[in-house]
Formats: sequence, structure tokens, C-alpha cells
Amino acid sequence: MPGTELFGAEERKEINDVLETGILFRYNHEQQRKGIWKARDFEEEVKKLTGARFAHAVSSGSTAVATALAASGIGAGDKVIVPPFTYIATVEAVLMLGALPVFAEIDETLCLSAEGIEKAVTADTKAVCLVHMCGGMAHMDAILPVIQKHNLILVEDAGQAFGASYHGTHVGLFGKAGCYSFDFFKIATAGEGGVVVTNDEKVYKLADSYSDHGHDHIGTIRGMEQHPVLGFNYRISELHAAVGLAQTRKVPYIRSVNRKYKNMLMELLSNTPGISFAKVPDPDGDSATFLNLLLPDQPTAARTVEALNEHGVGGFNYWFVNMYHFINQWDHLKEMRTASKLPIEIFGTPQDYSQLHLPKSQEVIGRLISFGIRCTWNEEEVKTLARRISDCVLKAVQKAHV
Ligand SMILES: *Cc1c(COP(=O)(O)O)cnc(C)c1O
Repeated sequence: MPGTELFGAEERKEINDVLETGILFRYNHEQQRKGIWKARDFEEEVKKLTGARFAHAVSSGSTAVATALAASGIGAGDKVIVPPFTYIATVEAVLMLGALPVFAEIDETLCLSAEGIEKAVTADTKAVCLVHMCGGMAHMDAILPVIQKHNLILVEDAGQAFGASYHGTHVGLFGKAGCYSFDFFKIATAGEGGVVVTNDEKVYKLADSYSDHGHDHIGTIRGMEQHPVLGFNYRISELHAAVGLAQTRKVPYIRSVNRKYKNMLMELLSNTPGISFAKVPDPDGDSATFLNLLLPDQPTAARTVEALNEHGVGGFNYWFVNMYHFINQWDHLKEMRTASKLPIEIFGTPQDYSQLHLPKSQEVIGRLISFGIRCTWNEEEVKTLARRISDCVLKAVQKAHV
């Protein structure tokens, strides 16, 4: 949670600017706000960092996914390919729009693979919601031809990969629209917040309207604005945007420290038998928020987790069983437990979610242990952590041979 580690004077200054005027709303009130526009500044800062032509801030990463999908034209009855390893918000956003999630396989990049997408495509597949997981990125050179070949809409959920890029292009900018999360656990936080990015002006305008009841935001009198589309309230407040602005400015620093410590850990661990790493298709573009270990098999990973717990080594996630990021934990989805009826319950599910056969994803996530990189570590702490991880893996590997 690097951003939260660095919360300080810079964030307080931006918040105080807003408190001085009391204009917590991002639109209008030109007189009273004395030139303070934090949501706009936050968007400009995200554009500067990512190179996006357009950026629009909203209330959360989840509403950013929903807005990106809606502005890309995805809605009721549309089949959307999604990964089984993601924060559930991706799948929920598809469902809440009335669209139908189709699960495809990931690979050692921890993201959907070109082969996985290819296998899941049918004649009526509309889109792919590609998720860039654990600070890294999907293998775009392999995936983009599949998207083009089948004429699919690409939307990127880069909720966990703000600041990451692939061969010079920031994740989120390969398709029609992309998005980032600024919740409390991401590389930069706004408390709660999200940003939609796109290079397509039409998509941007739709996102801008959709996330604020359809308002076109033309003119200075809110009550007199036009409404090109129906929408909803996914607005960000000026206070949250103020924090997001200060934090986004810190991302280049956080990213460089993360990379340094991640590289150190990888070097120190590279000679430990049994340890390999998740694939990062462009290591120079890694936001490096996680060190992702791949153990030889699921039982060895489980024994490593046991050893880590025994020795009090914290700061890691074993997504296969412990965390809410893998389909094995999504019983509510498999049993279609909903608060009220969703369109998918009328259209019918495109796959039987309780009987999904995703052996590759099971195999990869079964072997994966992810350590959060902290930008406030020092080198001594990094070396100690590497030694402790190495000891635990060795113990787990040796146990396999007795
Ligand atoms: C965190 C996250 C989200 C949701 O973001 P919130 O800001 O918590 O709503 C969506 N997708 C991914 C991949 C995430 O990691």
C-alpha cells in the first residue's frame, strides 16, 4: 500500500485548499471556489503521468470500470470476456450493466492470455475486459491481434496497475477505455476514487456525462445543462480528488523505489531452488507493487505459506484460498445470489459458473504467493525479508522429498 505509506503534508495542503473555500463539489460555483478545481487538477496529473488524451475522475475504481464499459457501449445481454483472477469489481461492473461475464484462462502473467481469450470467443462475444493484475501487465503483443481478429471491444481494468506501461504505452490506453483505482490499497490513494482514461473524445464525453446523471457540463448553470444520455451519480468529491492529486504526483517516486526493492528481492531469491517469478511482459514498465513468486506446485506453495505463518513472516497474499481475488472464493456468483434480479438471470448465464473448467488459472494461482512491496523499507529490511522467504521455501521444497 505504497501511497498510504507516504500520506503527509502534500495531501493535507491540497485538502486545505478545498477546506478554505468549502466548495466540495467538483462542478460550478465559479465565484466562491477562487480558482480551486481539484478534480480537474487530478485529471490533468493523471494525463501527464499516463499520456492519456482524456481522463475523468469518478468515485471509485469500481464505478470507473462501470463507466469505462458503459462509455464503450457495453450493456444488457453483451458477452464480455473476463479473468477469474481479479478483484470481483470487474465482474460486478459487467453484471450491473446487464452484460454477461464469460470467464477465460489467465497464464503466468497473472492476466488473461491470448490463447485463453481465443478459446473463449464465440460469434456473439462483444468485448474483453482485460485486467492488469498485481502491478504488472498483460502480454499486449499477443492479445491485441486476437482482439482485432474477432473485432472485439477492449476495455482495460488497470485498477491495480496505475503507473505501469507496456513498451512505452501506459496500461489502460490500448483499447477503447481504461481505468485506475485509487482506493486505500493501491499505489496511489484518494481515500476512495477512480479515473477513466481514453484517447477517444466520444468515449470521454460519454464517460463524463454517464458518471453525472447525463449532464453535458456545458455552461455555468447546472440546472440548465443538457443531458445527452441517462446516467447515474459516480462523481468524485473535491476532497477525495485533492488527495488523489497529491498522491499521483508521488507515483514516479514510489514506482522507482518499488522497482529497486523488487529487483533486489528477485536477485536475492533467484538462486533459491523452487522459486520462480510471475512473468512481466515488459519489466521496464512494471509498477512493481508486488513481488509475485511462483512455486513448483500447489502443495509446495501451501507448505510455503504454512512456513511463512509459522515464522511470523507477514505482508503476503496467497490468493488461491485466502483472498477475495480468485474465483474459488466467489460462491455468491456461482450460486447467483443477488439482492434483486439482474438481467443475467433473465438472459441466462453464458457458462455454468459453478462448473467452470479453468485448469491453467487454477494451476497458476495455486502456485502464486504475492508480497506487497513497501516504499518505506530500507535495504536491510529487504535483505532480511529475502532470507526469511528463502528459508521458508527451502523448508517447503525439502518436505516434498521426505
Ligand atoms: C481495486 C480494484 C478495483 C476496484 O476499485 P475500488 O476503488 O476499490 O472500487 C477494480 N478492479 C481491480 C483490478 C482492482 O484491483
